[in-house]
Amino acid sequence: MPATAPNTDPFQLATDLSGLLLIDGALVPATSGKTFEVINPATGGAIGQAADGDAEDVGRAVAAARAAFPAWAAMPARERGKLVQECGRVLAGHVEELGRLIALETGKALRTESRVEASVLADVFVFYGGLGSELKGETVPFNPQMMTLTQREPLGVVGAIIPWNVPLLLMALKIAPALVAGNTVVVKSAEEAPLTVLRVCQLMNTVLPKGVFNMLSGDGPGCGAPLVEHPDVAKITFTGSVETGRIVYTSAATRLIPVTLELGGKSPMIVCADADLERAVNGAIAGMRFTRQGQSCTAASRIFVHDSIHDAFLAALKARVDGMVMGDPLDERTDIGAIISPAQHEKVSGYIKLGEEEGGTAHVCSALPTDPDLARGLWVRPVLFTDLTNQARVAREEIFGPVTCLIRWTEFDDVIAQANDSEYGLAATIWTRDLKMALAATQRLQAGLVQVNQNLVVQPNLSYGGVKTSGLGKEASLEAMLEHFTHKKTIILNMG
Ligand code: ADP
Repeated sequence: MPATAPNTDPFQLATDLSGLLLIDGALVPATSGKTFEVINPATGGAIGQAADGDAEDVGRAVAAARAAFPAWAAMPARERGKLVQECGRVLAGHVEELGRLIALETGKALRTESRVEASVLADVFVFYGGLGSELKGETVPFNPQMMTLTQREPLGVVGAIIPWNVPLLLMALKIAPALVAGNTVVVKSAEEAPLTVLRVCQLMNTVLPKGVFNMLSGDGPGCGAPLVEHPDVAKITFTGSVETGRIVYTSAATRLIPVTLELGGKSPMIVCADADLERAVNGAIAGMRFTRQGQSCTAASRIFVHDSIHDAFLAALKARVDGMVMGDPLDERTDIGAIISPAQHEKVSGYIKLGEEEGGTAHVCSALPTDPDLARGLWVRPVLFTDLTNQARVAREEIFGPVTCLIRWTEFDDVIAQANDSEYGLAATIWTRDLKMALAATQRLQAGLVQVNQNLVVQPNLSYGGVKTSGLGKEASLEAMLEHFTHKKTIILNMG
């Protein structure tokens, strides 16, 4: 079967992609020949192997990207953009295939999450592909005798390190602007979700010149760290935990290279007494990403509900989450899939226990799947905690699972102070019909994204990124391409 023909059997595709990296336009094993197992979180069974890339493979991938850089950077920006758009079109023809494979390897339900992610992936390439001619400079009124202008230039080889929760979308938000801006890229996938990323890279390599986009899999210290440390990498863009973000930032600092970090969150959702209850409940479900098992850095994991509607809100939310179906991610009836890995399952379960020890009441929702094939799957039933304060550890620490805290409030100033009382500042929402209160909240909430009466996910054309420990720099939008994947050269021509 040619590489571009869609293959909607994810089990077969996982086997076909096993044990490979993509370097310089070719699928190759790791130099060491080592691999590690990729599991299906819904069954606990192995679905394939990923190549275990190490420093030597990093060296090969960076060398390929470096060799491809001059010609790619010299290509007219609109031509590069057209190729990136063509990648988007090829990926759009593989939405079903990519959706099924990502569902298989991450445990995210096909209908509610995985298919959606695959289609947004294609859209991001189409969006950025159209921005080639926006790589504009300025003319500067410096001195009438001197023609002074600025020009945007690419940085060189970009290293992109991505997580497992939304690997396709988060990868696209990095590599599409990096490529259009004229950089070449080496992406390092997360250990838990390497195969769909590899497939995307394979499909894109049918369009792009060889070496422009390379893909590595491997673990953090063995493959991610050497990528950050490589002397020919000019920029690192990273999405992951705060802990690893600090390591990456420190390492990049020793080489004085720029870094973009998209890290954790503990996003507040404020529900006011006058809120449209049904709309706010829908917003909590979307915001908490229950269909993604809560595995989102923007998850609305602290829901501050006005005392007067707290009980009604809890009852309505519980009823809705109870109605969600947990099960086989590849089954169209499934709303909620499985937790990504045994380690993450243990961590989330530990937090649920901790919340109870801290005095919280755990309202456990939905029901475990009954299919015997799924008996060894990594399931966690969604939990709504009440009777906790914002000081509880489950209300302060990022759980990255289907666990949220409902916290009562009465005074507006106090709820804003509580919402801001967090080390994170990624996103926030407020639900009210009172325009004055909504506007005040948008001004006072410390977050990179504040929404009123809605909880939209990341949009390609809107800047996205946090304040405080949630990150450094913005992703998505034209500014992200200009600010994070180019540098501005100033040119002065003395005509005197
Ligand atoms: P999580 O805890 O959710 O797995 P991490 O921040 O550890 O989040 O992982 C995000 C990405 O960072 C993954 O691709 C992982 O392999 C990579 N990574 C982990 N440790 C390092 C490191 N020391 N240097 C570079 N990348 C790393």
